[in-house]
Amino acid sequence: MHHQTVLSRLDHPRFSDKGIDVWIKRDDLNHPTIQGNKWHKLKLNLQQARLEGKTTLVTFGGAYSNHIAAVAAAGKNLGFETHGYIRGEELRDTPNKWSLTLTEAARKGMLLHFISRSDYRLKQSPEFLSTLNTCHPNAYILPEGGTNELAILGFKEICKDLETQCPEWTHLYTAVGTGGTLAGFITNTQYQANRQLLGVSTLKDSNYLIEDISTWVEKASNHQTNAWKLLQDYHGNGYAKSSQDMEDTETWFEENFGILLDPIYTRKLIFAFLAELDKNHIPSGSKVILYHSGGLQGRKTKH
Ligand SMILES: *Cc1c(COP(=O)(O)O)cnc(C)c1O
Repeated sequence: MHHQTVLSRLDHPRFSDKGIDVWIKRDDLNHPTIQGNKWHKLKLNLQQARLEGKTTLVTFGGAYSNHIAAVAAAGKNLGFETHGYIRGEELRDTPNKWSLTLTEAARKGMLLHFISRSDYRLKQSPEFLSTLNTCHPNAYILPEGGTNELAILGFKEICKDLETQCPEWTHLYTAVGTGGTLAGFITNTQYQANRQLLGVSTLKDSNYLIEDISTWVEKASNHQTNAWKLLQDYHGNGYAKSSQDMEDTETWFEENFGILLDPIYTRKLIFAFLAELDKNHIPSGSKVILYHSGGLQGRKTKH
């Protein structure tokens, strides 16, 4: 099932002038419909759902959630019925205002249930989960963003790949939403004294993520883990928000390297990496991997 993607070298004077080698792990190419980090997060959960004889997948997300898109695609490919609980009841009767993510999810057969923001906040409560179990008796319930123990374990293979593709890497940068992907890299990467994992938060006020990630790491890892940090200065005014600076960075990157970025995660990842480089936070001699976590389905805008 595992398909190893290329690790591409990025050559640019901006990097070589600082004595730094840079690669990008092209996981935007890892699966035709369940792209990027979402594939790693889902694959073991899908196996588990099969194993338990479940026929339905139930999950949660906002209107632009790549996780919703991935679950809809997984359901269609593997024959699960899918239900998505979507934040924002005002969207219920206005399909003309749906994001491309929602339109595509519905087209793939996902049944969308729109709920208010206050109900959405209660989605992990025992009451709500028990209602869900009653409404969907043979369902496998995936949390928002798909982050759970099996999701984190799903990064084992890609970490092994990186060990063979570039054993001497010192820095890995990845974009952070729930932190599951960063936790996956932290727990499955071999320890080396000079290694660091850097998560770029895409949300404002994301201090709580440090505790979430630490908890996942403590639960999942049985070895000494590498140093890691959550970079919180590059959210660009909040989730799915952007700035001219960030858009210019995306254009610069796409023109120089011919690799597309998504507007919510990987654009901020590259922006953060370049800013850290300009601030001389990355020592000469470093070997940096940028993780392209996919998300390109959310790139196209609907007209
Ligand atoms: C969902 C997503 C992330 C964030 O992943 P988490 O595990 O929730 O931190 C990053 N990049 C892309 C492209 C995503 O779709």
